[in-house]
Amino acid sequence: MSETDVIVVGAGLAGAAAALKLARAGKRVRLIEARPRCGGRGYLKPFAGDGQELEFGGAWITPWHGRLRALVAEHGLSLRPRHPVTNRLWLRGGALHADGAAAPDEVTAHERAIARVAADAILLKKGMAENERGEALTGISFAAYLDRLSCPKPTRDLFSAWWTVSGSGDHAEVAASEFLASCSYDNGLAEGMINFWSDTVVPGMGVLAQRMIAASGAELVLSAPVEQVASTGAGVELTAGEARHRASACVLALGINQLRALHFAPELSAPKREAIARGHGGRAFKLWIRMQGVPVGTLVTGDGNGIEFAFAERLDEDGSTLVVAFGLTRDGNRPADPQWVKGQAGKLFPNARVLAHDWHDWVDDPFARGTWVSALAGHEAGLDAANWQPESRIAFASSDYARDQAGWFEGAVIAGEDAAEAVLKLT
Ligand SMILES: Cc1cc2nc3c(=O)[nH]c(=O)nc-3n(C[C@H](O)[C@H](O)[C@H](O)COP(=O)(O)OP(=O)(O)OC[C@H]3O[C@@H](n4cnc5c(N)ncnc54)[C@H](O)[C@@H]3O)c2cc1C
Repeated sequence: MSETDVIVVGAGLAGAAAALKLARAGKRVRLIEARPRCGGRGYLKPFAGDGQELEFGGAWITPWHGRLRALVAEHGLSLRPRHPVTNRLWLRGGALHADGAAAPDEVTAHERAIARVAADAILLKKGMAENERGEALTGISFAAYLDRLSCPKPTRDLFSAWWTVSGSGDHAEVAASEFLASCSYDNGLAEGMINFWSDTVVPGMGVLAQRMIAASGAELVLSAPVEQVASTGAGVELTAGEARHRASACVLALGINQLRALHFAPELSAPKREAIARGHGGRAFKLWIRMQGVPVGTLVTGDGNGIEFAFAERLDEDGSTLVVAFGLTRDGNRPADPQWVKGQAGKLFPNARVLAHDWHDWVDDPFARGTWVSALAGHEAGLDAANWQPESRIAFASSDYARDQAGWFEGAVIAGEDAAEAVLKLT
């Protein structure tokens, strides 16, 4: 049994922020991480084809992500502005169109649905659970919401494409509010989401987490999945393999799907247990595809299947383009299969050639068990920060249930700093 003041579990951005704040308040911190690396769902990895390092987890930050921006400057990193969208195409009826998502005879119904979504998104942002027609905005799945809109297929496909970068899970299970909340960034427009993905961190978000942890001086224990958390009268005891760790308090900087692997003694309160048992439904895949013949800045949305969202984000020195692409992890989608990816890319960029592709499977990853947080319809409250207050000497921190900016890296930093403050009050 080895002792320290505070144990932080999880070396993602939330854990890094907690460790930094606790260390600066004079605590001896031990940070225990399951993987052999820091950063969690921020993951800089060499691209399979050529070794160039790319973000295989989260990447974009917004103009209002002030804590992250300050940390980037403080730890000697920089920001790369995202390439603007200079060419917008929609896949409809098997062909690409540059004049809009809907066919001419569907434009009126299309515009009506866009206006409805915009109104609903703005009402949700104001805290309303229903729109002016008495229709639910929360507690309803994305599939049920789309059915209620009864819009033309191309409109449905368009919303489905933006869903892969907002709600990102099973249409029938995940809450429509995930989509509406993302639309609310730009007056309720689904397309507006991209305008706020303004920058990426150079070299990468995982490097930022690593530098924050190094600056904290925390004792870092890698490749050590924590299995058990026991509260004792005076503190906590944690088990990771053969090792046992004791401290006066701990921060579990773990996402909601990651908490499922832990055993607690005594058990956590019922609301937390129930939220952990349900988890979140984020099930996107993110691919990087190196292509020849795609103009950088091209954004294509698909036909409701396979790769539904693809953006040619970076032009390389050799003239090839790096396309970032999203879809849902579900039957029929095979993001690991080069032939499948070629077929999908061929639909979205018919005159271009796939040179290589790569990805990370976050859904099958035992220390992630999903992509970014996406609340299940009817269970949104389980992810409220109010449900994640400390119990005994255990504080909780993750972007998944942050009080602000949940789902973003910024939310992880906020949650980590909040949990550190809570621990400082407890000890
Ligand atoms: C594909 C993808 C794209 C995304 N895009 C964006 C984006 O563009 N912008 C944005 O802001 N956000 C994005 N996100 C979300 C963002 O990555 C997350 O919100 C953020 O990384 C969560 O940080 P966290 O510290 O809360 O959790 P995590 O990063 O998941 O950190 C938790 C850590 O705990 C470790 N762990 C798990 N179990 C155990 C255990 N038993 N014992 C010890 N350690 C354990 C994990 O290995 C991990 O290191 C994206 C996420 C994904 C997957």
